[in-house]
Amino acid sequence: MIKKSLYNAFQDIVGKDHVLTEPEDLVTYSYDAAPLDSVSPAAVLMPRTSEELGKIIVLCHENRLPITVRGAGTNLSGGTIPMANGIVLLTQLFNNIIEINEADMYAIVQPGVVTAKLASRVEALGLFYPPDPGSQAVSTLGGNVMENAGGLRGLKYGVTKDYVMGLNFFDAMGNHIRTGSKTVKCVTGYNITGLMIGSEGTLGILDEITLKLIPYPEHRKSIITAFKSIEDASEAVADIIASRIVPATLEMMDKFTIQAVEAFSHAGLPTDAGALLLIELDGYPGQVEEDASKVVAICQKHGAYQTKTARTDAEREKIWAARRSALSALAKLKPTLVLEDATVPRSRIPDMVKGLAKIAQKHQLTIGTFGHAGDGNLHPTILTDRRDKKEWLKVEKAIEDIFSQALALGGTLSGEHGTGIAKSAFLENEIGKASVDFSRRLRKALDPNNILNPGKISGV
Ligand SMILES: Cc1cc2nc3c(=O)[nH]c(=O)nc-3n(C[C@H](O)[C@H](O)[C@H](O)COP(=O)(O)OP(=O)(O)OC[C@H]3O[C@@H](n4cnc5c(N)ncnc54)[C@H](O)[C@@H]3O)c2cc1C
Repeated sequence: MIKKSLYNAFQDIVGKDHVLTEPEDLVTYSYDAAPLDSVSPAAVLMPRTSEELGKIIVLCHENRLPITVRGAGTNLSGGTIPMANGIVLLTQLFNNIIEINEADMYAIVQPGVVTAKLASRVEALGLFYPPDPGSQAVSTLGGNVMENAGGLRGLKYGVTKDYVMGLNFFDAMGNHIRTGSKTVKCVTGYNITGLMIGSEGTLGILDEITLKLIPYPEHRKSIITAFKSIEDASEAVADIIASRIVPATLEMMDKFTIQAVEAFSHAGLPTDAGALLLIELDGYPGQVEEDASKVVAICQKHGAYQTKTARTDAEREKIWAARRSALSALAKLKPTLVLEDATVPRSRIPDMVKGLAKIAQKHQLTIGTFGHAGDGNLHPTILTDRRDKKEWLKVEKAIEDIFSQALALGGTLSGEHGTGIAKSAFLENEIGKASVDFSRRLRKALDPNNILNPGKISGV
């Protein structure tokens, strides 16, 4: 419970209509896209200005009140599940694109701007903001920065961190901090921008983001290739990478996912295929055409029996809309969906694919696999029902096996979805005790009252 005087103080800062306390409102902010237990916060606040945000943080620090910031709540690791005695801060009213600078190719945005909105605004000016998580139609740029989100174009263009030039944020005591610069190069002071990216709201609360833009690619070509087996498709992925060709996008779908997506999106995917590769090349027209021929030849060498190239923008969009619907399509099949993102070096994708098949068989579970194969970042997706306690125990064991398999292949627990609550217990397995202790000491020094998104990442 939050004391009455504090509620009143919050109302004085943001206005009565921007403080939610009714249980039926609070429940909306008790969960995110991860299949974890929900927790309703004590209140939800919707600040509109940096000044309001700063005042709220000072009050929370003084009263030791936990704060969980929420963008769109689409993260897949429990990053926005609040504390029962804490508040949720919504960034949805912080949604202005402050500046798009065409001469110096950067954009300054508030954290609540929806990713696709910025991407389409800059595209109209011939500029490109490449990070495109599958959730881009709803996810916010603040959430993207705080999860260091990847996307379908990570292979060629990198992830969110590669586009963050600077940040403004409030620390746990309410001090307003500025990091980075509008210049392409900046090495003044510590790289606090780098530290903040991916910190899941545990080190500070963003109120402004400066993002790098690049020229929009001149030409694009999207290709779908069908294989008899996922093993063949995964060998083709490893071979494309080894051939020094860098597609913008190199995605894979297994048979189970293809069938779910086709039933959901009617995109005309070949449902008899054992696996699909969805590939996009972009750049100068001559280079794109040359690389496309090489990619098709490599796929055929590994048994691709059908290749389709999008002839129009509408056809191209249809391919990528189908891919983006994979999670929603699978989610329709069972009450609970566990989407993992353990990632391996690209050359180990064939071993990871074989390992996943063994894990599904060992635990007698349905695991659909799709994802950013070109990045080594697959999304093994377990379809289950969390209410079935016996099956849930098997799911937990399977998740542990997926993590162990990825680490044994020299990979990582999370390529893009973050640690949150979901993976904090496994952190030590990858980074070691000394690194976990260092993270905890860092956090304690910056947030002595432990109010910034407690329980996430380092588990405190
Ligand atoms: C269908 C679907 C597809 C997806 N595809 C991808 C994908 O391709 N790649 C990928 O990387 N992820 C993907 N995701 C996961 C998710 O969309 C990303 O993690 C995204 O970055 C979250 O954005 P959000 O606005 O929903 O953030 P939220 O979930 O609201 O928040 C994420 C984290 O950021 C913190 N946060 C948010 N705003 C601030 C702020 N202003 N200051 C401080 N902390 C803040 C939150 O506290 C939380 O810890 C997908 C999710 C879904 C449901």
